[in-house]
Amino acid sequence: VDDLALFARVRSLLRLKKVMDELRQRQASGRAMGAIQDESEELRVSAGAKILVIDEPGRAAERLVRRLEVDHRPRLETDPRQAARAAQSAWDLVIIDMAAEGFDGMRLAARLLSDEATRNTPILAIIDPTERKLMAKALDIGVHDIITPPIDTHELSARVTTLVRRKRYTDYLRTSLDNSLELAVTDQLTGLHNRRFMAQQLRDLLATAKEDGESLAVFITDIDHFKAINDSFGHDVGDTVLKEFAERLSLNVRAIDTACRYGGEEFVVIMPGAGVDEARRIAERLRQAARETPFRHGETEADVSATVSVGVAVLEADDDADTLLKRADEALYAAKSGGRDKVVVADRQPKAA
Ligand code: GH3
Ligand code: MG
Ligand code: MG
Repeated sequence: VDDLALFARVRSLLRLKKVMDELRQRQASGRAMGAIQDESEELRVSAGAKILVIDEPGRAAERLVRRLEVDHRPRLETDPRQAARAAQSAWDLVIIDMAAEGFDGMRLAARLLSDEATRNTPILAIIDPTERKLMAKALDIGVHDIITPPIDTHELSARVTTLVRRKRYTDYLRTSLDNSLELAVTDQLTGLHNRRFMAQQLRDLLATAKEDGESLAVFITDIDHFKAINDSFGHDVGDTVLKEFAERLSLNVRAIDTACRYGGEEFVVIMPGAGVDEARRIAERLRQAARETPFRHGETEADVSATVSVGVAVLEADDDADTLLKRADEALYAAKSGGRDKVVVADRQPKAA
């Protein structure tokens, strides 16, 4: 065991573990929320991999490619000027012979590892067993594995299999991660934005409105006696009503408005540029849209009638996101205590203490 190469390999594996741990952890939270599918069997398969071999022309390179051909789809690149370009396409693995005449294998590897398009493609370097320093350097710049000539068929096959499987697994983790990022800002039941997104969006839009001297309005709407709907028709029917109400909400606000599920049966809409009259008009239109048409929850069952109460607040000079929402919430409360199925606009100024 050679210390230099050993420690370089350990560093390389620790780096890899860190990346994988992070991807796995984020993915686990995505799966817990139900958006990420379990790993498929395909991930365990490594056959048919697209492999680019970068080497000087000759018997050794041809022999390597013939061995790879048994299970995979290798291509040999022997032109140093073409190698970097060839490596840009989607490969499952790139094998670089670091001793190849006419190539600067280390530089090529470094470039592939730093380019956005190729950084996730694993690289297997062929390095002479006596070149300990070169091995350490290769691993340190991020080359994923090393194999030494004379190349043993079984070792080659094992290393290729591991690298290709790992590539497919990390690709899969990355894709699920993209989905879970989407998930992080979306309410699962209704498809509207969730509360977290709403909070961020409100802060941003409020800052912009103040900067540009534009108006901004919000409303909070809450379904009336929703508990009674759950109690008489069941929770599933309640869910259907929430989904359909979310649809009506989206249809009745403007395209630039942000509609969010605030929680339970409460929704928040942020309306950039809207003054008090426009905000009231939109809120009123939504209230009508809820009460006019009962909510269907199946082909045969009776429809469910529901109304909503709405509290509107318009941005004042000394408002922040919290005070604006609080005034909308107070207006909503006033709509509820005033008999429900109502729109109430908050006082222009927060009440003096
Ligand atoms: P009010 O007119 O004062 O708003 O009365 P309410 O019954 O609508 O208000 P309350 O806050 O008492 O009840 C809200 C209910 O909404 C209670 C809760 O079980 C139900 N709920 C919250 N989230 C969901 C959900 O995702 N699905 C279903 N079906 N029900 C939900
Ligand atoms: Mg309610
Ligand atoms: Mg409520």
